[in-house]
Amino acid sequence: MRLDKFLCETTDLTRSLAKKALHRGEVNVDGEVIRNPAVHVGEGSAVDWLGKRLAPFGLRYLMMNKPLGVECTTRAGRYQTVLELIDLPKVERLHPVGRLDVDTTGLVLLTDDGQWSHRVTSPRTRCPKVYLASLAEPLQDSMLETAIAAFAEGLLLDGEQQPTHPARLEALSPERFRITVTDGKYHQVRRMFAAIGNRIETLHRESIGPLVLDPDLEPGECRMLRDEEIAAF
Ligand code: URA
Repeated sequence: MRLDKFLCETTDLTRSLAKKALHRGEVNVDGEVIRNPAVHVGEGSAVDWLGKRLAPFGLRYLMMNKPLGVECTTRAGRYQTVLELIDLPKVERLHPVGRLDVDTTGLVLLTDDGQWSHRVTSPRTRCPKVYLASLAEPLQDSMLETAIAAFAEGLLLDGEQQPTHPARLEALSPERFRITVTDGKYHQVRRMFAAIGNRIETLHRESIGPLVLDPDLEPGECRMLRDEEIAAF
């Protein structure tokens, strides 16, 4: 892998900041200052930035802006997988933290730290997840109050024994809504709108707890989490 790409994957530097860091002589590879961003680093390379060893094979924590048509799974199947979008060594050690549907976009966390992943997804954590949804049918004002109340109270979805936890529904326009849920049932947000007689056309996850999708990430891109982002769970 190119050295500038390696820096982006293992730190929170963007490609242009990585090149500047290299230019300033902040990066050592195997004990030698390297300024050339195109230098190849492999599994055995010891890379230090500002005196700190970058550990590509330690526990890793990433956020991705998942594009449409990509599956949150570790197994090859019908769709391209989130892991196939990540150019990191030993990528197969990573797993997505929870799931988004193939046709949902936005924030996905990935890690090889099973305990951290469990803390994020455990129902006990009641971690709020925020989505933007656009609907097939506009919700008229007369329906809006009912929908807000139904989401806040909890909805009994088809095939479930328990109603959903209270969710917050915020209208951005008659067709666009911000929804905050704290549980994570299969297809939950789509099923909640189906339960009030509507249908989601597009669904995008903005945040998971305190972690907000980085606006600099284009669909399909990912970056390492910062220390304080990892410590937030
Ligand atoms: N709810 C859904 O219906 N789909 C998702 O991908 C996430 C939440």
